[in-house]
Amino acid sequence: MSKIYDVCILGAGPAGLTAALYCARASLKTVVIEKLAPGGQMATTASIENYPGFAQGIGGVDLALSMLDQAQRFGAEVIYDEIHRLELVGPVKLLEGHGGTYQAKCVIVATGASPRELGVPGELRFRGTGVSYCATCDGALYRDKRVVVVGGSDSAVEEAVFLTRFAKEVILVHRRDSFRATPILTKRAMRNPQITVKFDTIVEAIYGDTKVTSLTLANVKSGEIETIPVDGIFIYIGLQPNTEFLRTIIELDHSGYVVADQHLSTSVEGVLVAGDVRQKVLRQVATAVGDGALVASIVEKYLSGVTGHDQ
Ligand code: NAP
Repeated sequence: MSKIYDVCILGAGPAGLTAALYCARASLKTVVIEKLAPGGQMATTASIENYPGFAQGIGGVDLALSMLDQAQRFGAEVIYDEIHRLELVGPVKLLEGHGGTYQAKCVIVATGASPRELGVPGELRFRGTGVSYCATCDGALYRDKRVVVVGGSDSAVEEAVFLTRFAKEVILVHRRDSFRATPILTKRAMRNPQITVKFDTIVEAIYGDTKVTSLTLANVKSGEIETIPVDGIFIYIGLQPNTEFLRTIIELDHSGYVVADQHLSTSVEGVLVAGDVRQKVLRQVATAVGDGALVASIVEKYLSGVTGHDQ
């Protein structure tokens, strides 16, 4: 535990890996701690079409591994561990993981966000046996099957289209009468003959034996209830910030996102934030990468004694 890093970055998604690249390239002793696998949500996306520089789109895993490689090439250390206790007050921060304890002068929280659960009967029981939150990971299991996608924003609409590569029928279920998704994605889904859209509809329960076999839908306007046979359900109803472990330590907003000023500094000195976990208006790979670059430059100045007011 004697090693004191200049900066410890929590999370190896696009924000964390960009921050790592910039910090390491600026010769800061940099460690990234990731609890699962590099890439975060980016790695659960089949093709990213709106990240500049990849005219034909790029696979999320490919982009994640390339970002990881680039950060490591400049000297960033990557450790797979989960932090469960933090002492953030004072000039040296202490982070306790299951695999060890880490010390750093600065911490960048880049833990991203995870899929929100629907909270209906059967969801937990059939998780992994018909209930999924990742079409890229599980879509191929539904070749020639019938699946439901729940949600009305970019993720739901985009992944419904993606699933038509495998499933013979995709039923897109949204609780309101119009999508929130960007028009280009909405148009693609509406024009796809394999996709049926059910507006004003919610999922009431998921049924099955060893795996999902059917689910009950309710029309919120007419009150009509129907039970339809399905092989799987993909839930895309938004995100939940990964901040549970920070709840009493730094300021979060009412939805659990980390509150920061324009210098990406949190309520605790020496603790900064980047990416989807931050309270912000747009959550994309491009904005996460932007946060990563900015937060690294702020950390560099902070460590050389330049205060927020001077920047
Ligand atoms: P989101 O934008 O937060 O939308 C969540 C969707 O789920 C909304 O349509 C919402 O309905 C619905 N919903 C929420 N709670 C629900 C519940 N309990 N039951 C049923 N439906 C519920 O989430 P997201 O699609 O995961 O996107 C997250 C962020 O990533 C967004 O900023 C999005 O733009 C971005 N993203 C971008 C792209 C892209 O640019 N290609 C792709 C994926 C994601 P209402 O509409 O009624 O509120």
